[in-house]
Amino acid sequence: MQKTHSTSSVSATCQNCKKDFEIRKEDLIFYDQVKVPPPLYCPDCRAQRRLAFRNERTLYRRACDLCNKDGVSIYPAGTVFPVYCHSCWWGDEWDPIDYGINYDPKQSFLEQFAELKNKVPRVRLLSINSVNTEYENNSSENKNCYLIFAAENNEDCLYGRLIQSCKNSMDCAFLYSSELCYECIDTRKSFKCFYGERLQECVDVLFSFDMRNCQNCIFCTNGRNLSYAIENKSCTKEDYEKKRTEILASYASIEAAKKKYAEIRNEAVVKYAFATKCVHATGDYMYNCFDGVRIFDTSNAKNCSYIADTEDPIDCQDVNNHYFKGERCYNVMGALQDTNCIADVFVFYCNRVGYSDSTRDSQDCFGCVGLNNKKYCILNKQYEKESFEKLRTQIIAEMTKAGVYGEFFPPELSPFGYNETLAQEYYPLTEKEAKERGFLWQKETTGTYGKETIQENEMPKTADEINEKILDQILVCKDCKKNFRITRAEFDFYKRMNLPLPHKDFECRHQDRMKKRNPRQLWPRSCMCELGNHQHGGAKCENEFETSYSPDRKEKIYCEHCYQQEVY
Ligand SMILES: [Zn+2]
Ligand SMILES: [Zn+2]
Ligand SMILES: [Zn+2]
Ligand SMILES: [Zn+2]
Ligand SMILES: [Zn+2]
Repeated sequence: MQKTHSTSSVSATCQNCKKDFEIRKEDLIFYDQVKVPPPLYCPDCRAQRRLAFRNERTLYRRACDLCNKDGVSIYPAGTVFPVYCHSCWWGDEWDPIDYGINYDPKQSFLEQFAELKNKVPRVRLLSINSVNTEYENNSSENKNCYLIFAAENNEDCLYGRLIQSCKNSMDCAFLYSSELCYECIDTRKSFKCFYGERLQECVDVLFSFDMRNCQNCIFCTNGRNLSYAIENKSCTKEDYEKKRTEILASYASIEAAKKKYAEIRNEAVVKYAFATKCVHATGDYMYNCFDGVRIFDTSNAKNCSYIADTEDPIDCQDVNNHYFKGERCYNVMGALQDTNCIADVFVFYCNRVGYSDSTRDSQDCFGCVGLNNKKYCILNKQYEKESFEKLRTQIIAEMTKAGVYGEFFPPELSPFGYNETLAQEYYPLTEKEAKERGFLWQKETTGTYGKETIQENEMPKTADEINEKILDQILVCKDCKKNFRITRAEFDFYKRMNLPLPHKDFECRHQDRMKKRNPRQLWPRSCMCELGNHQHGGAKCENEFETSYSPDRKEKIYCEHCYQQEVY
């Protein structure tokens, strides 16, 4: 591989998947700035490693290893490291510095880090300031919610991922400032919408895709300012009510509507990326991003590449779940307002912290775990400024020589099984494949099988038939056969919205929603528009782009220009 200071991009071979990948000249400049060698792995393998350190939604019950109080945790009972409840972890009864170890230059740094990591207590899950919401993770400020993840400021929401400032909504993903929504994805400021995708400021919209400022629509696509429409044609209020009642009548009628919706969705016009106000940026699900490649689920990124689930990052590369204006970070999973950090996991409000885990409000630390408000620490041991800098330089030199400096933690250092983490969601592997790549695997899955007290064909078929007896029943998921129950809050939601019961457990419902979103992959394609009234006249539009719609997708993929002309 070429050295940095190159003026053009270089090609490299991924040491993991053996595929060739490009290192752009912008990347080389970045690596030079943050003083790391160019990466050994391709962008996908890099993302996969980081995601394998994030168990967002696999929850267990276990006791706190300090006060013995039972609670929900992302770690099952019996982990090698102690797991503390929030009050114990934040309390004064333990000091992470007590676990500090002297760096031994004869042993690999990462091995010593692993040793430290297996001793220092970990917090049972990440949940901050929530009320009456025991089952949540990577979440804060929620009230009366249940099984929501990466969620903030919600009330009475159930079963969701990436839910922000919503109320009384259930089974949604990427839902923002909405109320009474059910089975909606990538939806904003909407009210009483069911089975919708990419809805914005919509009310009473069902089974529809890419709608803005619409009311009372069913089976519509690319709608703008529509009111009372079925299949994009105007209808009367009575037609709408009749159709709605017909669709929501029973489990079977909803399943039929899902099939119909899948067909009309394939006919929709889509922009090559779900992106707004983006310049010189490739990726998908982006808002206000400038100058970067492979940006996913991100808003307000400036000069950042290979990032996902981030907000407001500046000059960062290879970061995931990075929020509050992080700057110049590289290879980081889970960050709040970090600057100049390299290869960290769940490090918050830190500056110049590298190869550290679960550390906050600290600066100039290296290889630390569980620190709070510290400076000049290595492997949780306190140093003076000068000796810290000297030792840090020495360790970095040794790691560079060993070819590991700059890379994220190796897979075996993750405290989770691959199948418990987001990596499995974006890069699914079998147990065998995961183990061959060095990842761990969680064998003890949660839940039970074969304990159902009611079979699928005995379930109440309509909303009217549901009564409180269902709360005592154990149901079985039609896909994975796992048992599940209907909770009281969920029951109330179905009754209130007059909806029939689902036949899948919450995890399979979540997987179904995630499958509707595009993958974090890009293909070079060109605009499919052939409309005669556009700039390109009678010929096909030649505009090219990178898109997360694979070449075998059925939708009409348009460039920005053609999409704007057709849909606005
Ligand atoms: Zn690779
Ligand atoms: Zn405790
Ligand atoms: Zn299932
Ligand atoms: Zn076009
Ligand atoms: Zn066109």
